[in-house]
Amino acid sequence: MLRRSTPTLLFKRFKHTVLGIDLGTTNSAVAVVGTDNQPQILENDEGKRTTPSIVAFTKDDKVLVGLPAKRQAVVNPENTFFATKRLIGRKFEDQEVQRDLNNVSYKIIPNNQGDATLRTFSGEIISPSEIGGLILQQLQKNAESQLDEKIDKAVVTVPAYFNDSQRQATKNSGKSIGLDILRVINEPTAAALAYGCDKSRKDGIIAVFDLGGGTFDISILEIDNGVFEVRATNGNTHLGGEDFDIMIMNHILQNFKNETGIDLSDDRFAVQRIREAAEKAKIELDHADEIEINIPFISGDKHIKQKLTEAEFDIMVQPIIEKTIEPVRKCVRDAEIKFKDIDEVLLVGGMTRMPKIRKVVEQLFGKEPSTAVNPDEAVALGAAIQGAVLSGQVKNVVLLDVTPLSLGIETYGGIFSPLIPRNSAVPIKKEQMFSTAVDGQTGVEIGVYQGERTLVKDNKKIGQFKLANIPQGPKGSPQIAVSFEIDADGIINVSATDKTKYPKDSPNYGKPNTVSIQVTEAGLTDGEVEKMIQESAANKKADEEKRKLYEHASRAEILCTDTENALFQFGKLMEDEEKAEINAFLKTIKEMIDDIRTGKNLHDPNTLNQKVNDMQNVCMTAIRNVAAKQSKQ
Ligand code: AMP
Repeated sequence: MLRRSTPTLLFKRFKHTVLGIDLGTTNSAVAVVGTDNQPQILENDEGKRTTPSIVAFTKDDKVLVGLPAKRQAVVNPENTFFATKRLIGRKFEDQEVQRDLNNVSYKIIPNNQGDATLRTFSGEIISPSEIGGLILQQLQKNAESQLDEKIDKAVVTVPAYFNDSQRQATKNSGKSIGLDILRVINEPTAAALAYGCDKSRKDGIIAVFDLGGGTFDISILEIDNGVFEVRATNGNTHLGGEDFDIMIMNHILQNFKNETGIDLSDDRFAVQRIREAAEKAKIELDHADEIEINIPFISGDKHIKQKLTEAEFDIMVQPIIEKTIEPVRKCVRDAEIKFKDIDEVLLVGGMTRMPKIRKVVEQLFGKEPSTAVNPDEAVALGAAIQGAVLSGQVKNVVLLDVTPLSLGIETYGGIFSPLIPRNSAVPIKKEQMFSTAVDGQTGVEIGVYQGERTLVKDNKKIGQFKLANIPQGPKGSPQIAVSFEIDADGIINVSATDKTKYPKDSPNYGKPNTVSIQVTEAGLTDGEVEKMIQESAANKKADEEKRKLYEHASRAEILCTDTENALFQFGKLMEDEEKAEINAFLKTIKEMIDDIRTGKNLHDPNTLNQKVNDMQNVCMTAIRNVAAKQSKQ
C-alpha cells in the first residue's frame, strides 16, 4: 500500500479524478485510483483511514463531522446524528424506523410527506440525505486536500438491498453539496471489484458476506477475465452492528434497573454513554472471555459496574446472527449454485471482525472465509476502481450488476405482478402494453411496487400512475405503453404513454399524452371497480392458467431485453458469427413469445426455457471474449 507522504505526486496527472466513497452506517471511507492503476484509501485530517459517519450541530452553530462529532456525542446527544443511513429513504411509519425511535439520542419525526427526518434540539429539521451530504462533503474536502486538486465527481456505494427510495435519497445527498455522483454501486459488488482486480487472484465464484454497522448484504459473483457478473444478491437493510450494540445497551439498562430501581431509558445523556460503552464491550469481547463495563456517575452518585461474558453475549445476539442465514441460503439458490461451488468467501464490514460471525460464516459455507480484503476498506477501494472505469483510466473491467428487488404493478385484488424479476441484470428496460378494462373508461391507473411479497400491501409502493384524457371508447381499444427502466445505479424510472393511433378528426390526434402521477378524482368509479372484480372472479381458473404461461413468456422476454442490452453495449466488439447466433436465438424466442401472447401456439414452457438458457450461454461467452480481447490491448 502506498503511504500518505507523496500523494500529490502520485495523483497529479489525472485531470478527471473520480472518488470512490463508501458511505457507511457507522464509518465512511474514501479512495482513489493512482497512476499505478491501484486503488488506495485517502486518510482524513486526523490521519485515519475511515471517518465516523456522524454529524453534530453545536450550541454555537458549528457543524462537526466525523471524529470531532463523535468526541462530543456524550455532551451533546440530542444534536449528534449517527447511524442515519438506517433512516435514509424511509417513511416514519416504517417498522424499522419505529424500532429505532427509542434507541437513539436524537429526535426522529415525520415531515409533510411522512418521510423520516431529524430534529435538532433548537427545532431545525434536517433529512437523513442532508446528513449524508455533510459526510460526503467532509470526505470530498479530505480528498481534495490530500490530492491538492478540486474534485467534484464520485462513485458512491449503497447496500445491494437498498430499494429505489433509498438509492434516490443517497444520490440526493451528493446533489445537496454539488458532488456529481456518477454511479451508485452495490457495496458487496464494490468489495468484489477490489478483490478481483488484484492480479494475483484467480477467477471463480465468490460470495461477499457484508455485515456493517446498519445493513447486511450477501452477494454471489462470478469473476471471469475482468468480467464481474453478479449472479444474485439478498440481504436486510436494517440489520447490523447497531443491533448488537442496542442488545448490550438494553442488557446494561435492565441490570442497572434491577440493581437500583432506576430506569435510565429516557435519559438521553445516559443512553448515549451506555451505547458507546456497549459498542466498546462488543469489540473487547473479540479477544476476551469476560469483560467489565464501567460507567462512572451515570445517575447522580451511582455508577455502572457490570461484567459480561462471551458466553452470555453469544446467547444474547444469537437471534440477530440467525437473521443472516436465510438471506444467504436464498442468495445461493437464486444464483443457481451449491455452497460447494463457491471458491472464496469474502468478509466485508466491521462486524465481520467478530469471531462468532466468522465461525457462523465458516459453518454455513463449509469453508474458512478469506482474509484477503480489509473489511473496512474494500468497499471504498472497489468504488474507486469503478470510478476509474467510468473516467476511462481503467479499461479491462466490466461490471454486470443485478437489481435486488422485483419491480412490478398491482393487479386485481391487490396482487403483486412482477415485470422485472429480482436479480435481473441492470441496466434494463421493459415496456408492456396495457389497455382499459371497462367500456368508456377515461383513465388508467397503475400502482408501481418493489418487493418480493405476493400482496402489494406488503411491498414498497414507489409510484402511482394515472394516465388521464383517454377518449371514451370500447374497453381494450386504447394502447397504453408502460415502460419500466432500471438504470446502472439501480434507480427506477416509470413512464406511461398513450400509443393509440387516433384518427385525424380525434381531439387526441397528434397530441402527446404523458403520464400524470398521483391518483386523481377521475379514477375508476366504484361501479367500474366492482365490475372488474366480478369479472376477475368469474374468470379465475382460466386466468390462473393463462397467468402461468404468460409468466414463462414474460421471463423469456426479460431475458431477451437483457441480451439486447448486452448486444447494444458490447456488440461492436463481438465477432459477426457470435452476433448472428445471438440474433437468431432472439428471433426464435420472440416468435414463440408472440405465439403464446396471441394464443396462436401455446408452446411447451420447457422448450422455451431451454432456448433462453442457450441464448444466455452464447451471449456470456461472447462478452467474456470481448473482455479477454480488451485486457490484451
Ligand atoms: P462498518 O459499517 O463496516 O464500518 O461497520 C461498523 C460496525 O462494525 C460497527 O457496529 C462496529 O461496532 C463494528 N465493529 C468494528 N470493529 C469490530 C470488531 N473488531 N469487533 C466487532 N465489531 C466491530
